[in-house]
Amino acid sequence: MDGKQILLDMTQDELKQYLMSNGQPAFRAKQLFGWLHKGVPFADMRNLPGALREQLAQECFDLPMELHASFPSQKDDTVKFLFACWDGNIIEGVLMHYHYGYSLCISTQIGCKMGCAFCASTLNGCVRSLTAGEMLAEVLLANRFLGDKGKVGHIVLMGSGEPLDNYDNVVHFLRLVNDPEGLNISLRNISLSTCGLVPQIDRLKEERLPVTLSISLHAPNDGIRTQIMPIARTYPIGELMQSVRSYVADTGRRVVFEYALIDQLNSKPEHARELAKLVRGLQCHVNLIPLNYVDERHLMPASPAAVQTFLKTLEGEHISATVRREMGSDIGGACGQLRRRHLEGNT
Ligand code: SAH
Repeated sequence: MDGKQILLDMTQDELKQYLMSNGQPAFRAKQLFGWLHKGVPFADMRNLPGALREQLAQECFDLPMELHASFPSQKDDTVKFLFACWDGNIIEGVLMHYHYGYSLCISTQIGCKMGCAFCASTLNGCVRSLTAGEMLAEVLLANRFLGDKGKVGHIVLMGSGEPLDNYDNVVHFLRLVNDPEGLNISLRNISLSTCGLVPQIDRLKEERLPVTLSISLHAPNDGIRTQIMPIARTYPIGELMQSVRSYVADTGRRVVFEYALIDQLNSKPEHARELAKLVRGLQCHVNLIPLNYVDERHLMPASPAAVQTFLKTLEGEHISATVRREMGSDIGGACGQLRRRHLEGNT
């Protein structure tokens, strides 16, 4: 790793160990943690001795990432970011402005290996997982970009990557980002989206982290789901729903189902009725997403009329559902689209 440590990966206790093994007093850990989690570079950590700052800069990263490019939408307040990791890899994030504040969509891996048929993130496979500190860096860089305008208050783990395929780092990130001496973002303001890794959902339930779980369902049965999501072969919809029901029962948290409407495939009224049957009785919300068309994929979005009919059918079945507001559609808003353009040399 370039020989350098990512200090943002460490808890305050781990920082303490690290500093003490370098002959520093324990109290420096609190100071260093505070600066790091404000995104302050070593050079500006005013209450640390100059020699220590220099040593840290030699051996460690303060921020293991920089802002590579930003693309503000012309249509709304959405900004798409490309971040350059310390090893030269490029990842993406999306900043959205809602009435309740700023929400950042972060990547959890460089690429993805889940292979969903409609998703651009997975086209080049997974290069590597991001560490907790790298995910924190995405938030810190978005805050730096915002400056006086505000701070990220909500996070969605819905960028490139499958969060539950990077389980330990993601859970570590959730604890760090919630640290009162760090960014102190409420876990209730964080959504974790998964394509449905059942054993990890069961494990997450035991962590007692009050994040909102989002399930990328996209189909009401295995026949359709296996056509677009390879993971459905490993964890069929019956097992997935059982795991989700148990998650909701144990945590008391409402679960969100993501459902991208694809022309012909999953967007007919009969599919809406089947979906309603599947989720009936569950404390849940269905988020309908008009499919974002990805050049390399041959799936087409459902028509606006089909989207409305699907929504009305669900509502008729008394299922809570909304159509997700399209944001940043002019800047490659869907997963992995911008990174992909970058890889092709078009950014
Ligand atoms: N791997 C995780 C999180 C990243 S994807 C997951 O699968 O949930 C975030 C969401 O965007 C998922 O619901 C994903 O299925 C959806 N998505 C990906 N490509 C899309 C596209 N072209 N149009 C609409 N939604 C898409």
